Amino acid sequence: MCGIVGYIGSRDAYPILIKGLKRLEYRGYDSAGVALISERSAHLNVYKVKGKVSGLEAYGEREDLSGTIGIAHTRWATHGEPCQVNAHPHLSASGNLALVHNGIIENYNVLKEKLQKKGYLFKSDTDTEVLVQLIDYMKESGKLDLLTAVRLALKEVVGAYALAVIDQTYPDEIIVARKSSPLVIGIGEHEFFIGSDASPIIEYTDQVVYPEDGEIAILSKGKPLKVVDLSNVALDPEVQTLELNLGQIEKGGYPHFMLKEIFEQPECIQDCMRGRLHVEENEVILSAIIDHKDKLMNAKRFIIIACGTSWHAGLIGRQLIEHYCRIPVQVEYASEFRYSHTVVGEGDVVIAISQSGETADTLAAIELAKEKGAFVYGICNAIGSSISRATHTGSYIHVGPEIGVASTKAFTGQVTVLAMLALTLAKVKGTIADETLQEILQELQVLPEKMKKALETNEKIASLSRIFTYAHNFIYLGRGYNYPVALEGALKLKEISYIHAEGYPAAEMKHGPIALIDMEMPVVVVATHNSLYEKLLSNVQAVKARQGRIIAIVSEGDEVISEIADYCIELPRTVEALDPLLTTIPLQLMAYHIAVWKGKNVDQPRNLAKSVTVE
Ligand code: GLU
Repeated sequence: MCGIVGYIGSRDAYPILIKGLKRLEYRGYDSAGVALISERSAHLNVYKVKGKVSGLEAYGEREDLSGTIGIAHTRWATHGEPCQVNAHPHLSASGNLALVHNGIIENYNVLKEKLQKKGYLFKSDTDTEVLVQLIDYMKESGKLDLLTAVRLALKEVVGAYALAVIDQTYPDEIIVARKSSPLVIGIGEHEFFIGSDASPIIEYTDQVVYPEDGEIAILSKGKPLKVVDLSNVALDPEVQTLELNLGQIEKGGYPHFMLKEIFEQPECIQDCMRGRLHVEENEVILSAIIDHKDKLMNAKRFIIIACGTSWHAGLIGRQLIEHYCRIPVQVEYASEFRYSHTVVGEGDVVIAISQSGETADTLAAIELAKEKGAFVYGICNAIGSSISRATHTGSYIHVGPEIGVASTKAFTGQVTVLAMLALTLAKVKGTIADETLQEILQELQVLPEKMKKALETNEKIASLSRIFTYAHNFIYLGRGYNYPVALEGALKLKEISYIHAEGYPAAEMKHGPIALIDMEMPVVVVATHNSLYEKLLSNVQAVKARQGRIIAIVSEGDEVISEIADYCIELPRTVEALDPLLTTIPLQLMAYHIAVWKGKNVDQPRNLAKSVTVE
């Protein structure tokens, strides 16, 4: 995955490209580059650096950065190490073409060999360079125009791509194409913008086109947008109006996006429930469920597929659906689902969860499930994303763009949608008592306020986090609804502080991990007051007896576990099923502060990227 930006119009392209790349850096940041067709010489200039986009700015005045047409890229390597040579844009052998690409060309080896036999030499180890040389070969050997060369080259390509290509012999044109990787085109006044998402575009225009798989768009100076398919059949692009504002994608006074996003959660959850929660009528309406109620009510089983944090939300979803709808649920890693011999077919409802809606493993699992006859329901954040289009129906979480690589508000948004899904279905199925439903709905209504209270623990958590910067290992324990929270807390810590952390169901500890506990080991226990409190108490005693250092997340007024624990964080009480929406917050904050104390790059942790669009 990576970020692509492009511009064609009458302004200087370079500053627009750099600003756009910075907005997209969350998608990948191991190297960056820009290609411009110079105003002065009419030649193609390419500048690349290893590392972050800021490195590109060092090129500065010395170079020819002029040009009103350009493309740029921030990379997250899949083929070839992160270095300057492998950075995009890649230049063709003729020196005429420059290309940026997001995705993987699966048959690049075959194509590379073919081109090598024709005398093409390759400078980089990337799959992407094959693409630019193939277009070059088509164009030069067949004496073709740029569009035809791109079309014919893409017909030979197997894999996923979003790409933009410029040609110094066509100085008034950018060609873009996509298949299974995201791409947006912004339409301004006699100018066009390109982005992997809308964040580099929104400042200039709110009119956008999302090309579909297999479509090619031709952006020409002074001409309307033209879209064709691979066979050159002209298509009618649907222009949409963006509902995103710039404030939503900037840091808003917080030192990091992650902290901003943690603090946005009360508002996000409110947005997520808006128009869906009807407390007085004692109902929740997720329209996708109502529209497909027969399919969902009669499902013989639900299978939740997801990766990472979304998978943890899925584990909570499982408990919610089994608890209130009495339908069996299994939760699978999307990447395993594809290759295990999972029995799936008609009568199954597959719920696919992904923040970006572009997760390659989840997308592939969806295709498989559809092929086998399952009904697929998507839960995504990014509007118009590939998953939202690939599924039969679904619900958005509506928490706004999430920029911090470590997911926070998307997790609570996903859990909120899963809770609403379970409650809508339970009401339709008649598996929930009216009083129980009313109690949960009232709690959901006041949850944003309770989340704000949970966020008040921030300062206390910041100071206790400092104590634990010494640790090389952490254990997180929880039971029932809070077991996935323990997993998520451990994942957050690993992702941004690089401390090894394991989450366990608390009672499982005695079957092995208890051997790890000594006076150095921090043990975070999610121990709010619920039906498993007494059970958890015995598990906490076992840690204490081995001198583990206990950080307990407890309910307000707790007198028992708070006596045993070394450090305590108190949270407001809520119904058990909604507990994760509060208990996750201190764990997010703790991971954040430990990482900050350790001087880590919180928003862009090493080796990670925001939307994992590769297998
Ligand atoms: N496969 C390409 C590379 O390794 C693109 C990776 C990306 O999407 O950033 O350079």
